[in-house]
Amino acid sequence: TQELHIVGGGMAGSEAAWQAAHMGVNVVIHEMRPNVKTFAHRTGHLAEMVCSNSFRSDDDEQNAVGLLHWEMRAANGLIMATADKHRLPAGGALAVDRDPFAESVTEALTALPNVRVKYGEITELPSDGHWIFATGPLTSAGLGAAIQAETGAERLAFFDAIAPIVYAESINMDVAWMQSRYDKGDTEAEQKAYLNCPMTKDQYEAFIDALLAADKTEFHEGETAGYFDGCLPIEVMAERGRETLRFGPMKPVGLTNSHDPENKPYAVVQLRRDNALGTLLNIVGFQTKMKYGAQAEVLKMIPGLEGASFARLGGIHRNTFINSPTLLDNQMRMHSKPNIRFAGQVTGVEGYVESAAMGLLAGRLAAAEILGQSLETAPLNTAMGALVHHITGGADAKTFQPMNVNFGLFQPVEGLKSGRRGRKDRYKAYTDRAKSDWQGWLVAQS
Ligand code: FAD
Repeated sequence: TQELHIVGGGMAGSEAAWQAAHMGVNVVIHEMRPNVKTFAHRTGHLAEMVCSNSFRSDDDEQNAVGLLHWEMRAANGLIMATADKHRLPAGGALAVDRDPFAESVTEALTALPNVRVKYGEITELPSDGHWIFATGPLTSAGLGAAIQAETGAERLAFFDAIAPIVYAESINMDVAWMQSRYDKGDTEAEQKAYLNCPMTKDQYEAFIDALLAADKTEFHEGETAGYFDGCLPIEVMAERGRETLRFGPMKPVGLTNSHDPENKPYAVVQLRRDNALGTLLNIVGFQTKMKYGAQAEVLKMIPGLEGASFARLGGIHRNTFINSPTLLDNQMRMHSKPNIRFAGQVTGVEGYVESAAMGLLAGRLAAAEILGQSLETAPLNTAMGALVHHITGGADAKTFQPMNVNFGLFQPVEGLKSGRRGRKDRYKAYTDRAKSDWQGWLVAQS
């Protein structure tokens, strides 16, 4: 039988190995720790949690990450079963006792007769055999160079400079309007591709004051400032001069407020579609190191965003990830080297749970391929499917940034009320539909 090689024994690699091994495939995990270290990992265990110990909400009816928990539990997921075993009290969240968690994952995998762990760094993308690369946000430099050689340098990012992402439905369209700068574009859709939020002089000055006063996070050890060219955090721009933003991402030129055409805005914040569905918008040029609490407060000062809900807040940190929308098919295989799959955070998902989820899927897809079975990728309307379709196709490749699972990635359910009021029913409908589709996908494999 053919072996499956998995590079990286983190959240994704461990789950991928577990799934493939249970389908009867022989698995070799290549893990560089403890021989080669990263700046965040402390141990040589598989599935080490590098920072917080939270798997976030466990609510599988009203929360997309809780739904992902549910789907992974239903699929015999090792990461979820082990997290449940080492659960700590944390209200509605799933918090995990990290050391026993990582030890248990390591023991469970090494106890399987068809799993071997080889400790050592892999620094190339092989042309033969079946491989899954799940080397995470701190992919080693040697491997990073090999990926760049294969994909082109611009398709591998080393930093995550995320502008906040807002749910479109939470924006006040009595204030904001749709228009591209100078009405650029051949079609009406292109000429109205941006959503604009106007500011008066007073509003702009108050915004700059709040930005300068807000709490910011420090850089982690090992995070250099090399990325600063081209994607400065907004608060750093504000520190350079009160007018810097007005001549940068907040410039008001080429725009006319359709609600008030006579008055030229003093500054404008622009938002742009972040997914094909148009349910998510990112705030253009607004990467920031403001702490989450402060960030939400400051951003709600932007006219039109008073009631904004955020699918994800902004941030900047060390994070290696590939441009999956251009590089991978929906089976998570490289177009240029289909014997190689990618999984986990390196594919442009974000978080322990999402990374493990992409490992689960890649493990099953790779094992099925080795066994000569045909297995469709996860159904679109499941949490797993919403994520994999987003990274391999739904997301805009030009502005691709890592993504948490969220209901903005889901296809609408027909006949339900939109807006804030209908949210509870809508989320329940999403999760009911997802559970049924996920069960269907699993049953077809048994
Ligand atoms: P990892 O869990 O990192 O696993 C990748 C594995 O690959 C590692 O064990 C690494 O040693 C190994 N590896 C790398 N290169 C090679 C190579 N060339 N050869 C062999 N092995 C290799 N997520 C959260 O949900 N909450 C948080 O609070 C959080 N905080 C974070 C803080 C920091 C500083 C960083 C860097 C990330 C943080 N993340 C957090 C993201 C977190 O890393 C991921 O959610 C999750 O660990 C990703 O899982 P993964 O399996 O893709 O990668």
